[in-house]
Amino acid sequence: MDSIALSGPWVGGNELAAVRQALFSGRLALGPFAARFERMVAEYTGARYAVAVSSGTAALHLIVRALKLGPGNEVITTPFSFIASANCLLYEGVRPVFCDIEPDTLCLDPAKVEERISSRTRAILAVDVFGHPADWTALQNIARRHNLRLIEDSCEALGAGIRTKSDSLQLKRCGSFADAAAFAFYPNKQLTTGEGGMVVTDNRRIAELCRSMANQGRRAGSGAWLEHVRLGYNYRLDELSAALGCAQMQRLERILTRRRSVARMYTRYLAQIPRIKLPGEQPGTVASWFVYCIRLDEGFTRSDRDQVIRYLRSRGIECSNYFQPIHLQPFYRREFGFSRGDFPVAEAAGDRTVALPFHARLSRRAVERVSATLAAAIREVKGR
Ligand SMILES: *Cc1c(COP(=O)(O)O)cnc(C)c1O
Repeated sequence: MDSIALSGPWVGGNELAAVRQALFSGRLALGPFAARFERMVAEYTGARYAVAVSSGTAALHLIVRALKLGPGNEVITTPFSFIASANCLLYEGVRPVFCDIEPDTLCLDPAKVEERISSRTRAILAVDVFGHPADWTALQNIARRHNLRLIEDSCEALGAGIRTKSDSLQLKRCGSFADAAAFAFYPNKQLTTGEGGMVVTDNRRIAELCRSMANQGRRAGSGAWLEHVRLGYNYRLDELSAALGCAQMQRLERILTRRRSVARMYTRYLAQIPRIKLPGEQPGTVASWFVYCIRLDEGFTRSDRDQVIRYLRSRGIECSNYFQPIHLQPFYRREFGFSRGDFPVAEAAGDRTVALPFHARLSRRAVERVSATLAAAIREVKGR
């Protein structure tokens, strides 16, 4: 039987034509496609400025630097994320202060943030986990009360948002809630450029600093190629990738609609299966479906979950345990002395999630097969 992939990009509109145009333009870096891609993402998210960079991790790193965070500073962040959202702090000697998550959305729990604030706290870095917006209204209130900066890791949430009024159709999009936000365009994200990322912000100074630092510390907009006014990096996005990004942006609504409909199919097929919790959207929010992660109920241990994963894999269904919490990663345990029990909600989620195959081109038959196999796996592991 064919195996079903965990994720995959959807390329098929203008992508080839756009990349070809970039390729034969004679301009493979620092050209019009990156500028156009930036305008498209800025306009889409409602941000004033956007700076295209080489990865989501680079975007996060630049934001941390642009906010002048460094040794002696603490940033409150979530342990339930991809490791880059905490590593970006370590690059600058900033201490990540983890704070447990909210059990429904799996995003940073605002109710637990304030007890983590110290005199060294400078910012809160929250993640829109799996394409579901964090509780930005609450986080903004906390940040205002304590005079903290906000960083939004929206690498998994292009297209997600929060409705501005409960009865309104207007959406304030992820990427627009903090002082600056990061997007990522790795092939498993909603939109891909191969490798790539973007900083978005309404703050002109942050945008200028990020643009300069991404380009070896050159003055933004300056023609002096060999003049470097600050420490910089080569975090630029090349024109081929940017061209791919432009073509993908043109199809973003279709991509998101397909992903949403695959998520709906799963929700329909899985509704009958006992002992699992399905992902959803909180009232007033719109998720953009980065992955489709089910959670086994409390009766399952981590090793039961791993057995479910092995069962699915042995039947050609790629799946994964999303996420192993950051504080339990070997490097973080060693460096900071974290251990099990430190962040129980994140650990419980990390122990019982299974990310099922999920992408825009997943067929109904594949969803049906995954669902039936998951049901069989659960029966196998926990008896009938
Ligand atoms: C993908 C991702 C990143 C990093 O993106 P890269 O482009 O792979 O560097 C950062 N944070 C989160 C939450 C992500 O999912």
